[in-house]
Amino acid sequence: MKSFSYTGLPSRVLFGSGTLKSLGDEIKRLGCARALILSTPQQEGEARALAAEIGPLAAGLYANATMHTPVTVTDAALAVVKDLKADVTVALGGGSTTGLGKAIALRTDLPQIVIPTTYAGSEATPILGETKDGLKTTQRSLKVLPEVILYDVDLTLSLPMGLSVTSGMNAIAHAVEALYAQDANPITSLMAEEAVRALARALPVIVKDPKNIEARSDALYGAWLCGICLGTVGMALHHKLCHTLGGTFDLPHAETHTVVLPHATAYNAAATPAAMARLARALGVNDPVRGLYDLEVALGAPTSLKQLGMPQEGLGRAAELALANPYWNPRPLELRTIRTLLENAWAGQPPSSSG
Ligand code: NAD
Repeated sequence: MKSFSYTGLPSRVLFGSGTLKSLGDEIKRLGCARALILSTPQQEGEARALAAEIGPLAAGLYANATMHTPVTVTDAALAVVKDLKADVTVALGGGSTTGLGKAIALRTDLPQIVIPTTYAGSEATPILGETKDGLKTTQRSLKVLPEVILYDVDLTLSLPMGLSVTSGMNAIAHAVEALYAQDANPITSLMAEEAVRALARALPVIVKDPKNIEARSDALYGAWLCGICLGTVGMALHHKLCHTLGGTFDLPHAETHTVVLPHATAYNAAATPAAMARLARALGVNDPVRGLYDLEVALGAPTSLKQLGMPQEGLGRAAELALANPYWNPRPLELRTIRTLLENAWAGQPPSSSG
């Protein structure tokens, strides 16, 4: 018998095609009437159209959400919240826009409706990463967990191919680390396995046929489950390495997760046989480490940190930084082996399950 604890996260989820039409009702359901719509500058057009759609329920728009949630951007958005007397935020976009909604909620307690358009999964987590003076810090608080998630598959049809693939692999990374988490439990493991299965099935179809609604639906469903995994159990080496590479070397978020995932999984594989068996089953392969790498290659995703602009001379520092603060990992962390892992990831060498 294996004991476990599990804490479910409260949030309301609407999933489907055309779900966006429910936004007005969802705002009213929260007892709100003045929504501030959030987006990045790149998605301002869609955000404006959404504001027009809900008419008087839209108090205004703030279209300057930025990757890694800089505190300066949050401060500017808070001034808009105050000016417009907004009583709810509606984040339309990926993890960057969701991050801004969370940062506002942390400071104001305003309820959040999130309409995700990537597979990052932030909408399902009580986690907020923020950047101040170039330093990224992460915190967990139920105050930042969005009240409502509106998944509208139609919005993901426009997700560019590169981001579809890397964002999908970013989601899979949450599920892989959930399978071997220190606080893994039967519920998140069920979700993780199902999520990998859905995404691994959907992404190759999306590459060939980006507007395939069934595949897009599978991918978004998988991404939601991955988000719950990320929000519910602790992550380990893979997320730590990606956090360091993104924060210190400014590497792109989803692409970095994509490249590092097979290598971090290889490092932990021998220490996590039960998790690897589930991962293999979900991927439909015998060797899950090789399966992750082959999936990346088949999807035309980046396979080396070199491609992402990582300087080779930074690898030693990255390894040291990733080990600077101790954290739990299923296999003890050894500087020399982590350095080798990063060198392989830098060069784009296929990993092997022996780590
Ligand atoms: P993103 O939100 O930065 O989006 C990347 C770009 O793609 C943006 O310009 C965006 O406007 C555009 N875009 C998004 N969806 C689109 C669509 N459907 N069509 C066309 N363009 C679209 O990227 P992301 O990978 O979703 O998020 C990355 C950020 O989220 C990072 O800062 C990461 O740390 C954070 N994140 C946080 C959590 C958490 O739990 N706190 C989880 C995952 C990611």
